[in-house]
Amino acid sequence: MKKEQTYRFETQAIHAGYKSKHHLDSLTPPIYQTSTFTFSTLEQGAQRFAGKEDGYIYSRLSNPTVSILEERIAQLEVGESALAFASGMAAVSSVLIGMTKANDHILCSKGVYGCTFGLLQMLKGKYNVDHTFSILDTEEEILSSIQERTTCIYIETPINPTMKVIDLELVISVAKKKGIKVVVDNTFSTPYLQKPLQLGCDLVIHSATKYIGGHGDVVAGIIVGDEETIRYLKKTTQKDIGGVISPFDAWLLVRGIKTLPVRMDRHCKNAETLTVQLKQHPRIKAVYYPGDKDHPDHEIMKRQMEKGGGLLSFEVDGTYEDTVHVVNQLKLIQIAVSLGDAETLIQHPASMTHAVVPEEARIEMGISNKLLRLSAGLEAPEDIWEDLKQALDSLS
Ligand SMILES: *Cc1c(COP(=O)(O)O)cnc(C)c1O
Repeated sequence: MKKEQTYRFETQAIHAGYKSKHHLDSLTPPIYQTSTFTFSTLEQGAQRFAGKEDGYIYSRLSNPTVSILEERIAQLEVGESALAFASGMAAVSSVLIGMTKANDHILCSKGVYGCTFGLLQMLKGKYNVDHTFSILDTEEEILSSIQERTTCIYIETPINPTMKVIDLELVISVAKKKGIKVVVDNTFSTPYLQKPLQLGCDLVIHSATKYIGGHGDVVAGIIVGDEETIRYLKKTTQKDIGGVISPFDAWLLVRGIKTLPVRMDRHCKNAETLTVQLKQHPRIKAVYYPGDKDHPDHEIMKRQMEKGGGLLSFEVDGTYEDTVHVVNQLKLIQIAVSLGDAETLIQHPASMTHAVVPEEARIEMGISNKLLRLSAGLEAPEDIWEDLKQALDSLS
């Protein structure tokens, strides 16, 4: 099922899916900025539509620049095939709509991206596709959360923004016994740190807007999995709903991926350093970072991830007003949602990314109105820390 890994990850990130000799010797992949492709004859067009001849037809179906991206990410995730989308949510909705039918049930990790939560609500309202949230921490708990009509387990790990880690091997082993598909949103870890398909999960989703692109200049999504499932999604929820990526955005991602390993090393290092410093500050109540040896899920993280990642969340020791004050006092760190960019970003999940989640459900997910999420950028760690420190020190 899995592709043979010929080169190491760092090399694949630069070369996989592209051969210059197929593109007029251009070192860098060309941007095929075209909506459609020409056929030499009517018969050729008919053969392509019938799937009897390889070749491009129309850019909602496939495009050469997009194909390079898909091939590259498939190899990095050690999957058979991949599909790129116009956004992470286009990828998430393609999977959840594609894998369920009316009256099915989706079992979710307790804590999912805010818009994924919104999509789950919509699926319930329109098609009675129900969902429940589970902590997925023991075999008994998982088994008791699975229903007769459960068709898929949907996991985010580490969970946004609480940074809890789900034991993928445990969930996958239970799901396999029950014949249920497992989908992992791997946005936070990237294939550099975690490869869920290698652990036996069925599909991986990315918001490529984040670390895959890495430069805060593109919104995109990706799904990776086995050939058959990807072909099915390509022909249904991608082709007919149509959230396809543009050739230029695909090109930006192909470029961004080249530096993914180098960037991730630095993101992780900066997050590790900030965690240590934040934990020592008297105005910090709690820091949540899976790479921290005091994090309750640190052992699970070590089993399935290379490093702790570039994201952490923390709570100021004080009131909600103190939290607001600290954020507004920052000078270098930018207040913005999204993550995985060169710039260090901070956001307030309760009023921003998770504002759509009703307060009760939000508290249940561990998102208080004093929780802040920080995406460690690539700046000098001293500068990031000095900025955080002056903001925290300014609390009287
Ligand atoms: C951002 C994000 C998404 C949604 O992706 P978009 O590219 O914004 O549509 C989904 N899951 C996670 C974990 C994310 O961080």
